[in-house]
Amino acid sequence: MRAMRIVGPGKPLELHDLPIPKPSGVEVVIKVEACGVCHTDLHFVTSQILGARYPFTPGHEISGIIHDVGQNVKDFKIGERVIVYPHFGCEVCKQCLRGFPNHCENPPLLGFIMDGGYAEYVLIPHFKYLIKVSDSDPDEAAVLTCSALTAYSALKEAGLENDDLLVIIGVGGLGTMAVQLAKKLTGVTVVAMDIDEKKLSLALRMGADYVLNPSKEDPIKFIKTISENGAGADAVIDFVNNSETAEIAFKMLRTRGRHVFTGMYGGTLTIPLTQMAISGIKLVSGKIGRPGDLRELVSLYKRGLIKPFISKKFRLEDANKALEELKAGEILGRAVLKP
Ligand SMILES: [Zn+2]
Ligand SMILES: [Zn+2]
Repeated sequence: MRAMRIVGPGKPLELHDLPIPKPSGVEVVIKVEACGVCHTDLHFVTSQILGARYPFTPGHEISGIIHDVGQNVKDFKIGERVIVYPHFGCEVCKQCLRGFPNHCENPPLLGFIMDGGYAEYVLIPHFKYLIKVSDSDPDEAAVLTCSALTAYSALKEAGLENDDLLVIIGVGGLGTMAVQLAKKLTGVTVVAMDIDEKKLSLALRMGADYVLNPSKEDPIKFIKTISENGAGADAVIDFVNNSETAEIAFKMLRTRGRHVFTGMYGGTLTIPLTQMAISGIKLVSGKIGRPGDLRELVSLYKRGLIKPFISKKFRLEDANKALEELKAGEILGRAVLKP
């Protein structure tokens, strides 16, 4: 089978020919129909990753058809269309035992330590990570597993009340999904913030009430102007999460505001401690959701309440091009690879 593999940090992916994996026990082999191209993949390609064993196949937003099953697999049959919950836990750390494999302290990550979906076939270590999606569109279903799941989890962490003002910073793949989910599932007013006008018009199409371009107007002043008594936002989800956006997010918040950190750009935030003591502000991590959250999302998707926006499809061998376009900020919504 063909696979696009990471051969070392900073090097382009290489097309390799590998044997199709053979499942045993509770393992399943999936013929990949679509694999989402995620910023995490970009991070794995460009940076030296502690613990990575080169070469490896990235890709963790997978949909496909079951190709083969181990002898102890139950409830799943060859030929069924499935998606894969990507954040496999170790099953023995405190967080896994408490039902939070998304916060596993020793995660054997799909598309990192384990070979992922930038390939024609992928081995999944346990059938419990699969969810059937039957006749759903495989491209849309694939991106439910990470970009939509992270957006959904971030919204839950934002602890929204229906009269809240929510600011979503960065409306790429995750941000557009968060706009849709917030408008479909809650009564909140949504402000989408981005420096890219194309992304802002997409956010409006997805249901945002306001759009805000911080390169054109002062974002904090804007939020004060539209919020009740100039008090500020009830919650901000930062899908960029660099020093600049984190500071803007923090300054936008009103009393009892929630600041959800989701993006992976990185940097630092200086926090005024007295304000923290008296404001009731909460700082929370908005990491990818739990397996149960993915089941909820699939249910919302199957009922037509949400629809991931797929703007581009690439052939497997064009994975480097897909990653370059993602890096350059040229992908609206999400791109998928079609092995
Ligand atoms: Zn991802
Ligand atoms: Zn664990």
